[in-house]
Amino acid sequence: MITTIPSLSAVLAAAGDLPAQGGYFSLFKWIVMALMVIAWLAICQWVDKDCMRLHLRRFTWNGVIVGSGALGVLLWLVIPWFFIGLLAFAITAFGAGYTYVYLRNPLVSPNSRVLTGEHMARLFSRRSREPESVPESIHLLRPGAGTRGSDLEIPPLASEDPLYEGYVTGQEVLLTAIERRAERLTLLPAGQAIALQYTTDGVTSEPQQLERRVGELVIAYVKQSAGLDVADRRRPQEGMLKVQEPSRRLTITVKTSGSRAGESLVVLIENLAERLTLETLGMTERQQEALKEFRRSEGGVLITGAAAAAGSTTSFYHMLRAHDAFMTNIQTLEQQPEADLENITQHHYEANDSDESVSFARAMQSIVRRGPDVVGVSLCKDKETAQLIAQSALEHTKYYVQMAGKDTFTLLARWAALVGDLKLAMAPLRLIFAQTLVRKICPECREAYRPDPELLRKLNLPADRIERLYRPPSKPLVDEKGNPVVCPKCQGTGYCGRTGIYETLVIDDELRRLVVSNAPASEIKQYCRSQKMLYLQEEALRKVMAGETSINEVLRVFRESK
Ligand SMILES: [Zn+2]
Repeated sequence: MITTIPSLSAVLAAAGDLPAQGGYFSLFKWIVMALMVIAWLAICQWVDKDCMRLHLRRFTWNGVIVGSGALGVLLWLVIPWFFIGLLAFAITAFGAGYTYVYLRNPLVSPNSRVLTGEHMARLFSRRSREPESVPESIHLLRPGAGTRGSDLEIPPLASEDPLYEGYVTGQEVLLTAIERRAERLTLLPAGQAIALQYTTDGVTSEPQQLERRVGELVIAYVKQSAGLDVADRRRPQEGMLKVQEPSRRLTITVKTSGSRAGESLVVLIENLAERLTLETLGMTERQQEALKEFRRSEGGVLITGAAAAAGSTTSFYHMLRAHDAFMTNIQTLEQQPEADLENITQHHYEANDSDESVSFARAMQSIVRRGPDVVGVSLCKDKETAQLIAQSALEHTKYYVQMAGKDTFTLLARWAALVGDLKLAMAPLRLIFAQTLVRKICPECREAYRPDPELLRKLNLPADRIERLYRPPSKPLVDEKGNPVVCPKCQGTGYCGRTGIYETLVIDDELRRLVVSNAPASEIKQYCRSQKMLYLQEEALRKVMAGETSINEVLRVFRESK
């Protein structure tokens, strides 16, 4: 809680010093004043919580509400006529509260608006029926912990529960994460506070500071709900939760670990929008065709890569899944499998301290010996493994190799250097994909505009052929009555979901010959460009032209990946 809110006793003590006027009225006045001040403090607390939940300027609003209330009290004390003083207090203190409500109501869904006719009606009808502790709550379940493997319902905590405060704030935080379509939320110790951050479509919000004690209670509440050991605050722990929504159950992964700075919590929320298929990953028809051809061919190596955390694993898995897992023997060798692949044998390679590269190659060798049809290798880093792959790919087995690198030429150079023998590296190589992710522009609130031809020319786009592009709304949205509203699809961010952008390098005989003969990079690039190869940024700008994303988003992604 915020410390700037004056304590009730201090304010009442100040009120007690009220100049007594008209003797026998003083007790009555005192009670009126106490009630008013209590109402004002309740408003202070509500605004503080509401700001936190809606991500409004919490400190500014606290200052406004607390400051105007204090001003009201001061006026009341100074004005010699009691009822005029009362009026002055009411106008300043409650006026500020009403201003806040007036400005926040359009930002929330109709059901969450306050002081409206419907809100009053709801308030009174609810009072008469059920006392509810948390007005908007989410319903948590622990998967498989109920009778006969069913999901166990986690009941709300009672107000006497020591974790009650963590429950209330934890519910707010989880609800906000779901409303924002966040795929991840983190609570990290930061000095005297706990920093709360949401990540939506790969973009992380500014940290919000939770009071340390409250943040720790939230972590404890989430751990207890997921069935983790609340008392153990050091050892890394992982658990699962589900959130019951009206029409679906969302799966949530909870991870905690401790350090000297304190305990941290990471919550990964299953993101339905991110469940992409190969067709919806964002590949162009030409790229899908190239992949199909690779699947049909015998043996061969395909390299897929990205700059850090740009969805490369998603594509890697989709490429493997595109094979018929019933008819084909598919195996993987992965350091950290990120998902379970049905009917695919996943070998989890755990790095140990003693000679990592030798043991990775040994694990690879035992897979090669089984003669699989398709093998996925994530993060191939050593020569021995790379050579094994290249040799085996010359025969029957097809390899999907995931490597780090932000464009196809970097990946090509890394692969060649890893194998250490240009001929062997190039012989089985067929395709290279480099990818990144951009946020898709929200189709509900996107705004068409006529782009500046100068900028288009700078970006190498055909300025004379582009009539309009799209961007997030440049002015706040309003409804038919002119009241400000927030786009329900994107919560006002202007973007909704992500799509992959791919740069593809098709390795043909001529390119193979150029690389093996050690041709200069400029000559290799020139040849690829003559084959209509597009660079990653050009592929991204094609999505801008198609209205799928914005120029600013593409510039942001490429600025960040530099
Ligand atoms: Zn929108």
